[in-house]
Formats: sequence, structure tokens, C-alpha cells
Amino acid sequence: MFRPHALAVALLAIGASLTTAATALAKSHDIELKLRIAAPPPGPRVVALTFDACSGTIDRRILDMLVKNQVPATLFVTHRWLKRNQETTAVLLAHPELFEIENHGDQHVPAITDTARLYGLKTAGSLEEVRKEVDGGASAVLKATGKPPRWFRGATAVYSQDALEAIRSAGYSIAGFSLNADMGASLPAATVAKRIAAARSGDVIIAHINQPGHPAGKGVVEGIQRLIDRGTVFVKLDDMQTEASR
Ligand SMILES: [Zn+2]
Repeated sequence: MFRPHALAVALLAIGASLTTAATALAKSHDIELKLRIAAPPPGPRVVALTFDACSGTIDRRILDMLVKNQVPATLFVTHRWLKRNQETTAVLLAHPELFEIENHGDQHVPAITDTARLYGLKTAGSLEEVRKEVDGGASAVLKATGKPPRWFRGATAVYSQDALEAIRSAGYSIAGFSLNADMGASLPAATVAKRIAAARSGDVIIAHINQPGHPAGKGVVEGIQRLIDRGTVFVKLDDMQTEASR
């Protein structure tokens, strides 16, 4: 029997390439990674949903919708978020077929050594602090899930070159993205829905699942519903083979 999901999973590989969005970055040489599913198979659109849980709580609009529709997703959680959201973590762990839990750091400190602040956050400032951020997040994920994380996405998803190399040397794949759905949960619902619904096959989508008070979450739900209605195949990052991006 033809199973599009299994087929997609078998054929997927991620192609990561470097892009720099000079206006958004702290310094032009700081790096924002683009991540896509390489050579998505023909047929139904294939996308990977990724959600960041930086701090705060859980947006049940999104979580409940994913569970109800059996939509898999990859969640990037911080140590800080895990400490405060044990009940939600139990819900995630009750659905291992749906949710992959990965490392978003210890205290949500950007993995940047060469500039002091980015998007209002104080950066790590040194490789030692970058390592603390990565290790602290990894230990927390391992403790909460029993599984060591394989992917890392730093706060702001921007990296200085030396931090990127250090994180990769520690064995992590860096989780970039190709479609920013909510710009830090800051966009209006209708805009978010439209952006997600316009996903192309192979897109890795980023949105936030920790801001229940923001309109953006409503747009996430609407956008995913539109993808479901059009027969989209959803995959987790671990469902895909990876290839070195540089
Ligand atoms: Zn974050």
C-alpha cells in the first residue's frame, strides 16, 4: 500500500545553506542558517513544522490542534521553559509519535560572541558561555525526555562563526529554517496563516508555541489547517537524513 508519509521520510534529506540577512543581523558576518528538506519527493507537499518554546508557557490552541489532527512537529525548548512547564512536557511525552523535543538552550541566550545584544537579548559574549548555553539546554532535554537532543537552535537563531563551529564540533546539527511564520509571535493572525498556507514543498517552518496571549498563535492554527486541507505531509527533523551544510 502506498504510504506517502513513509515514502517522504525515506527520501528526505536536508540541505542547509548559508544565508545572511544583513539588515536583521547584529553584524553582517553573523549567520542565520537556512534549512530546507532537500529534494522533496513529487506528490503531496512535504513540510517540517518547528516550534520554539523560549520561555513563558504553552499555546494550547496550537498544541491541541496538533494532537487532534495528529500533526507531527519538532519543538525547541529551553531549560528555563522545561522547568516551568512540566505538565505540558508530560503531554508532549505522551505523544512520542508526534513530538520531537530538541535543544533551544539553557537560558535563551543567543550563541553570539562578537556583539553584546541582539533583538533585545544579551548575547553569550564568549565561547565558554555559548557552551554553557548549549550544554545546559541539552542536559535539561535529556533529563526531561530520556533522549539526548541532536539538533540545536540558539535564541534568535543567529550565530557568530566561532559559536557555530563550536556547536557543530559538539555534535549538533544547527536548526535553521526556510519560512519564518510568525517573526517571534509578533505578526497578526491573518498574516501568519497566509505565510504558513503558502509553504512550498521542502520548507522548514519556524513559529512559536510559548505565547498563548498573542494573536499569532491563532494564525498558526489556521495556516496548519489550510495545509492539512490540501493534503500536506508533515515531518519531524529527525525523520530526515541530513547533509553537512558547509
Ligand atoms: Zn527562542
